[in-house]
Amino acid sequence: MKELHSFGWYASKISPHLPKKAFKPVPARLLGGLAYLFVVVSGMLAISTFDLPLILNLAISLIIGTSFAAMGFLGHEILHGTVVRKAWLRNFLGAVFFWPLVTGPRLWRKWHNMTHHVHTQDEENDPDTWLSKDKVDRSPLLRWIYRLPFSVRAFFEFLSLSFTFTLHSTRMFFIYVKEFKVEKRWAVWMQFVLPWVTWIGLMFFVGLTNWLFIFLVPLLIANAIVMGYISTNHRLNPQVEVNDPLANSLSVTVPKWINVLHFNFSYHTEHHLFPSMSSKYYPLVKEQIKKKWPDLYHEMPMTSALKALWNTPRIYYNGNELIDPSKDMVYGSLGHGLNYEAIEPRQRMESPTNDKKKA
Ligand SMILES: [Zn+2]
Ligand SMILES: [Zn+2]
Repeated sequence: MKELHSFGWYASKISPHLPKKAFKPVPARLLGGLAYLFVVVSGMLAISTFDLPLILNLAISLIIGTSFAAMGFLGHEILHGTVVRKAWLRNFLGAVFFWPLVTGPRLWRKWHNMTHHVHTQDEENDPDTWLSKDKVDRSPLLRWIYRLPFSVRAFFEFLSLSFTFTLHSTRMFFIYVKEFKVEKRWAVWMQFVLPWVTWIGLMFFVGLTNWLFIFLVPLLIANAIVMGYISTNHRLNPQVEVNDPLANSLSVTVPKWINVLHFNFSYHTEHHLFPSMSSKYYPLVKEQIKKKWPDLYHEMPMTSALKALWNTPRIYYNGNELIDPSKDMVYGSLGHGLNYEAIEPRQRMESPTNDKKKA
């Protein structure tokens, strides 16, 4: 069994090898954000002002959607404090760039910074980790879903990526809003309601058809892009008892120009080691990780990660395996026998009755 270490342990080993500037905020990231704002507003004006053919409207929708996603990646960085340090400005800019994804800065910092980052891949405490077999066994609806054929589940799982971010974010709002102090709750509510009011209000100005191209289709596209990354960040990794980013996170590789467009969001393991560092410097962190722990680091092309997601079931079994309950087959996770180039399931050893007794 490999020894697990916290993200702080890894960070302390790497920090001395990084330049001092890597620990400073990078406000120049906002120039990219400004460019996206310009593209989004121009696209919206073009759709609502001119009577464009369908194909052109769809093309502009695609551009707006990809910009929405990129703005979300920037919002994520901003709310980690890596762009500006002043709290009010950080929250304001975070709100602006998360506006399209309808997620407020207070909610995001609680859900993502204070919970996901602190309890990554903890079966009970990470709000973003996937289901375990015990949880599925306890729910009749989930048991029914997981009896569907594997390929049907994979198809719907991929289709659902086009709305899962918004759905999950809304769910997180209703879970976490209760945990804020009463005097802060109104602000959390406003940050949830205001984006919806503006987006739905926009429908009355531009008409339903234009609104579909201006907001709804871009939102679905943005969801798909953002979830394309989020679903590969941890879901092929095991659930762990120590928050060890090398064990519980995956960095995907994408062409360089995509890293530029997406603010290096592909460097997710690096991000979990240094969440308050600008992603601009993650290539330097990657170099150090690969030098020090080449066998522990998980990295694969984005396309391979998506294929591996398609080909493995989404229920954790004993923390480091994935199980398809309909066939009683188990698959390894990263670091535990998952070879993404040749995914081979094997028959589960224990009988289902033993599991029930354990649960
Ligand atoms: Zn993560
Ligand atoms: Zn983060």
